Amino acid sequence: MRDTNEMEVIFDSRSENEGFARVAVAAFLTQLNPTVEEVSDVKTAVSEAVTNSIIHGYEGDIQKISIRCRIRENTLIVRIRDEGCGMENVEQAMLPMFTTKPDLDRSGMGFAFMEAFMDRIEVESEPGVGTTVTMEKTIGKGRNIWTTQSI
Ligand code: ATP
Ligand code: MG
Repeated sequence: MRDTNEMEVIFDSRSENEGFARVAVAAFLTQLNPTVEEVSDVKTAVSEAVTNSIIHGYEGDIQKISIRCRIRENTLIVRIRDEGCGMENVEQAMLPMFTTKPDLDRSGMGFAFMEAFMDRIEVESEPGVGTTVTMEKTIGKGRNIWTTQSI
């Protein structure tokens, strides 16, 4: 499609790569001139999804996680995918404070953060097949309103 830009990274499900993943997405996002807050929102959402793939999807096994980012006009679409254990009940998993690992000091807020910091989130998961989290965020919403008012 014209007027889109895309990148994909594939990396090992090691916790050392969480920082890499969020910085890679943030670096790709800079072409939309995001605010510091917008960058921080996207980084947080990416971190939560990647951490989930590492801890829940692969349960510590070292396998591959892929992140594909697409920019369409001023919207970032990020898809984070693992081929881990998947989930039986996505709706339940997305409820705030739902966690299957309370023993590991998990608060069950990962999906709630992703929902709060991004404009849209869709989760597809199948037990034994894996999980795909797709999120969208439009950059620069309301910036024009602010400039017209401030003149
Ligand atoms: P927190 O993110 O606050 O540390 P959490 O990871 O348990 O805690 P969520 O990120 O909201 O909370 O995820 C809720 C539940 O969904 C998890 O406990 C886990 O059972 C399931 N889950 C999330 N992501 C995956 C995934 N990629 N593969 C398999 N299960 C997942
Ligand atoms: Mg989580």
